[in-house]
Parts: sequence; C-alpha cells; structure tokens
Amino acid sequence: MPNLFSRIFRTTESATPEPSQPRPETWMPEGVTVAQRYRGLAGAVVLVYTTDSSGGGEYYAVACLGCTYIAARHKDRPGSDFLTQQRAAELANTHAGTCRALPRPLPDRPDEQTARDIIRRHLHNARRSVDDRPLLLSDLHPQRLVLQRTTSWIETELLAVADEHPDVLTAKPRGYGPGHAFTLHPFPRS
Ligand SMILES: [Zn+2]
Repeated sequence: MPNLFSRIFRTTESATPEPSQPRPETWMPEGVTVAQRYRGLAGAVVLVYTTDSSGGGEYYAVACLGCTYIAARHKDRPGSDFLTQQRAAELANTHAGTCRALPRPLPDRPDEQTARDIIRRHLHNARRSVDDRPLLLSDLHPQRLVLQRTTSWIETELLAVADEHPDVLTAKPRGYGPGHAFTLHPFPRS
C-alpha cells in the first residue's frame, strides 16, 4: 500500500524539525539583544537591536530580515553618528512602511572558523583608511546577526589578531572600565 506508507512518512518528517526552528518573530541570536520588531508590507520582520555588552554606551542597529537593509550609523549627524534606540526605531518604522520583501530564512550560526573569517574580513576592509583609527566593538554591529557570537568572544578574537598581527591591530587595556581599546592600522603605503 504505497499511499499509506507515503502518508505516514510525510507526517513523521514534518513533525521533527519544526519545534526547534527559530522564527523571525522571536529570534534572538547569540550576543544580540533585540529591543523592537517591526513588520514590513509583505511580512518581513525588521529588527532594532543592540549587543549583549557594548562597553561604552548602548548603540543600536536596524536590520531587515527580508531584504538587505541594514543601518548602524546616523547619516545626518557625522561626528556623533551612533544610533540611539529612538533613532533606530524611527529608521525601522520607516523601512517597514516601504519594504515589500518576503521573509527570508534566518542565517545559520556559523562555525568557529567562519565566524573568525567574518571578523578578519571586516578588519581587512576597514584597513583601507589612510590613518590609524580606533576599532570599536560597535563597528561590528552590522555583522552581529550573521556572527552570532557574544561580545566577549569577539573581543577575545580581536586580541588574538592583535597578538598574531600587530601590524594590523593593536590592543591596550582601557584606562577605565573593563575591556580593551583597539587601534586598527592601515595597509602599508609603498
Ligand atoms: Zn526590507
């Protein structure tokens, strides 16, 4: 009786993976604190989030789980351009009011090597500036939904880079409070 067999098979198959599958409405990836959620016109969720410990102020970011929209800086205010929760919420609300993207699958948590590569790629791209510049943990806000690691994991990884490649990154303990201050060095000019 092939019919009965396939029906039983299908039921068991769909019953197993669903309960553990995270949903955009409740998704809280490791290292990230979601403060607010908005829903776009076709159902994609727009997140307003910060990180588990920002060390140096609470800065927010906005990311759409339907399209590629992501914002972690205040474009109209150079100098003091970090997003407060209120400003991030305004951006999220505006985006949700115009975004027609469908929900897309949530990113899987990457393995350790892939997470390291994400950080190293970010450092590589950020080295294109001309001068030494501070590297803030909040610079990695846009990557946090993909990274899915705690702030302390990221800081440990940055310390490892500083140890291995002092020409790329240097670290020193903060004068006050916990953690380290990182300085990123540009590519050598030939
Ligand atoms: Zn969108």
